[in-house]
Amino acid sequence: MIKAKRKPLDEIFNMVKDYSRILCVGCGACTSVCLAGGQRETEILTQELSECFSQKGQRVEFSVFVTERQCNAEYLADIEDMVKEHDCIISTACGVGVQYLAEKYESKPVFPALNTMFIGLDRDIAFFEERCRTCGNCKLGYTGGICPVTCCAKSLLNGPCSGTNADGSCEVSRDVPCAWNKIYERLKAQNRLENILPIQPPMDWIDKGPASFIQSGYEKRYRK
Ligand code: SF4
Ligand code: SF4
Repeated sequence: MIKAKRKPLDEIFNMVKDYSRILCVGCGACTSVCLAGGQRETEILTQELSECFSQKGQRVEFSVFVTERQCNAEYLADIEDMVKEHDCIISTACGVGVQYLAEKYESKPVFPALNTMFIGLDRDIAFFEERCRTCGNCKLGYTGGICPVTCCAKSLLNGPCSGTNADGSCEVSRDVPCAWNKIYERLKAQNRLENILPIQPPMDWIDKGPASFIQSGYEKRYRK
């Protein structure tokens, strides 16, 4: 899932300090799961912002609503009436949710409360690790399920470089395992080392404009 973390309070406050009726919209999906933008976190944010406004002697009305998902128009309809009653919106969704809110309610200033970090796994409670950079051409089939784009510091498709340390760490840091050393070890254990012998061509990054795609089977619905 997408992982995000909250921006510093003063950065958020500076974005909204000139408004007096503020709607904070949380997201019940990814940013809720990563403990950054669900009901609890959105309410805490409004309490902290209220305190900032009080210290400046300003009275501000806050409303909180957590959408099921902010990246889907169906759920954005839930806040339509509330949007009309407020001067601006703070979103605690990922960057996609913020952009969709801004697109849907074009006349309303929309501000992000989070920094969207990456697509990653939950290593433990509130402990996340990046695993995918959405390259659009997944390589995991020949790399033993280890992403070279995300986990190698140089995103090498043909590794390793000559920087791997003797302990198997990456030259950028002894604390960072060399992805290509891990790929080698995993494929060796699976008796599949021939997977990494062919030279992989450079990534074409063909879909790296703002991409979109339609799941197989749904084409007729959207294409005339
Ligand atoms: S190769 Fe890595 S970045 Fe590309 S889709 Fe697969 S997991 Fe994601
Ligand atoms: S040492 Fe390994 S992980 Fe680091 S840049 Fe080189 S191949 Fe990539």
